[in-house]
Amino acid sequence: MEIIKFKGVKKRYYSGTEAIKGVDFSVRKGEIIGIIGPNGAGKTTLIKLILGLLKPTEGEIEIFGKDIKNIKKLERNKIGMVLDTPGLYDDLTIEENIKFWQKVYKKNNNEIWDLIDRWKLAEKKKTLIKKLSAGMRQKVAILNSLSHDPELVIMDEPTSNLDPEARRDIVDFLKGFKGTDKSLIITSHDLFDIERICTRIIFLRKGKVIVDGTLKEMKKAL
Ligand code: ADP
Ligand code: ADP
Repeated sequence: MEIIKFKGVKKRYYSGTEAIKGVDFSVRKGEIIGIIGPNGAGKTTLIKLILGLLKPTEGEIEIFGKDIKNIKKLERNKIGMVLDTPGLYDDLTIEENIKFWQKVYKKNNNEIWDLIDRWKLAEKKKTLIKKLSAGMRQKVAILNSLSHDPELVIMDEPTSNLDPEARRDIVDFLKGFKGTDKSLIITSHDLFDIERICTRIIFLRKGKVIVDGTLKEMKKAL
């Protein structure tokens, strides 16, 4: 089943910059996709289009088989997201933050409590978000994105600007999406992380898809 479909999608900002210049691709359930490309390639714009945070200037986008214009809350709730600036409430503790999202979604995803232990955040449960390191904040942002047990998780640069330990923990966790029925889309400018996590790579440059395939296919094309 296709959960995302882009047909001739273009995005021009008000400034006139054409960030996405005619992109076609689809994503099937269970795929683990890495969107890679240099700064300014359009990775974040592409993700915001999928999330419905930006409207395409041209073309069509379908999410879960429906035109994105007609997506209801029910479908939106099947998506979890981590954007590049984690939208965390600085003055809450880790525990309060997690309880907040569980209240919002009325769900208790047990995976979260396992992750808190694995990521050694258990002893930090009563610590304010603003007192945490960048790596820990990123981990909390990832926990938030999973709080409603979404089918599709989208993360913008989940592994950049982190200390090596946090990066390793997060990469190890993301590797676990392979072989599940959950779909994952991450962006990165680091091929090393992408190749360990993803089964398919979309290489963007100047708003266009240059390669869409396996790592082998991408290396051949370069
Ligand atoms: P948000 O989703 O929070 O509105 P955006 O990515 O849309 O974030 O924009 C972030 C800010 O960067 C906005 O204020 C936008 O106007 C500004 N901006 C303007 N020109 C550029 C540019 N060329 N590259 C990146 N950001 C830009
Ligand atoms: P990437 O995530 O690959 O670095 P972006 O999607 O952030 O690329 O940006 C693609 C292009 O669109 C860049 O030229 C960037 O300057 C421009 N851009 C991004 N956000 C905005 C914005 N809010 N307003 C105007 N231009 C933007």
